[in-house]
Amino acid sequence: MKEYAVRNLRLCTKDCLCLYVCPTGATDTENSVIDREKCIGCGACARACPGAAISMVPARMPPQQKKGEGVVSSLSSLASAKLGQEYLARTLAARAEGGLAALCNAVARSARLTAEDIYREAGYMLPQSGNVHVLLKQIALGGDRYAAQRAARLMELLPVNDRS
Ligand code: SF4
Ligand code: SF4
Repeated sequence: MKEYAVRNLRLCTKDCLCLYVCPTGATDTENSVIDREKCIGCGACARACPGAAISMVPARMPPQQKKGEGVVSSLSSLASAKLGQEYLARTLAARAEGGLAALCNAVARSARLTAEDIYREAGYMLPQSGNVHVLLKQIALGGDRYAAQRAARLMELLPVNDRS
């Protein structure tokens, strides 16, 4: 399989067209998440969906470009600054009222989104990054059995794909 289908539940209007066209029943699940085990990647559901709620995702992502230490370090500093801004804005929002509180909350959200983008650019938060696997291994070795099982399964599904 080169691709598989994923459904964005926020865009899904529940008209069930994808259930009729899927040759394997992968779209017909209790929790609305397309069954990856059954999906053969034909793309019929994505073509049929009127709301563009289904995307075809590569089964194996292309190798990620390796980030230099300088880049990672600079981006990490920038992300830390953004998280500091978010904390300040949230603190102010908790003490403010009305328009000022709304403004502070908006600044906090903006700082959070920017920090997430920066971490992504630094190679974090990408599921097939080596550093994400380091985190997953820590979770897999942790005390929470359910979390450990899920982390182990994620490592199976998303092998490290850093460019060497
Ligand atoms: S890509 Fe094909 S097999 Fe996979 S869920 Fe869509 S219709 Fe079903
Ligand atoms: S075809 Fe698209 S909008 Fe309709 S049920 Fe399937 S995912 Fe939802």
